[in-house]
Amino acid sequence: MKAHVIPPPEWDCKIQLSFIHKSGEPYRETFELPMEGLVEHWGQSYTSLGPIRASFDSNYAGDRILAHITVAGNFSLPCSRCLEETGLAIVGDMRYLFTLRSPREDERKFRSHDDEIPEADGDVDVIPLDGFNAELDLVPYIWEVLILNLPERVLCVSDCLGLCPICGCNKNERNCDCILDVADPRFEVLRNLK
Ligand SMILES: [Zn+2]
Ligand SMILES: [Zn+2]
Repeated sequence: MKAHVIPPPEWDCKIQLSFIHKSGEPYRETFELPMEGLVEHWGQSYTSLGPIRASFDSNYAGDRILAHITVAGNFSLPCSRCLEETGLAIVGDMRYLFTLRSPREDERKFRSHDDEIPEADGDVDVIPLDGFNAELDLVPYIWEVLILNLPERVLCVSDCLGLCPICGCNKNERNCDCILDVADPRFEVLRNLK
């Protein structure tokens, strides 16, 4: 199975920045991006169950473009306690401010709220661009939103009982008679601290 640590090379999602209406009218594009195999992140393997859906909503605001990128996809991941494969619906979004100004100047203005930017009330990543006539490749941004919304761990059910550390049975499925030795060396350290 293919394992992705970077975006799949076949992803194609470019925006012609000149298409974004200077009048400030919203401009939207949606994408369905093939996603097969695994995504490797946080030391975990997320099995993709279908394509990634992404949307790009944008507005001109002065000499800047404010973009809202949302990403959704379905994955599965072993439960961190019992290792049963568990379904995972990922939905995430981020805001980006593409600017021709120096990012520092823009960030300062933005934080001091002396500049009206429609709908920009949360955290925004400020990205400097050389010009607004070019194509903007959305792949790195869509990938970033996806990766940041992959949970580090998942539980099949919130009260999953996990695996017995002695016999390895799935304690959600059956009870074993194993007796845990409570003299765990990790607790010994704590006891010595007193
Ligand atoms: Zn579980
Ligand atoms: Zn057991």
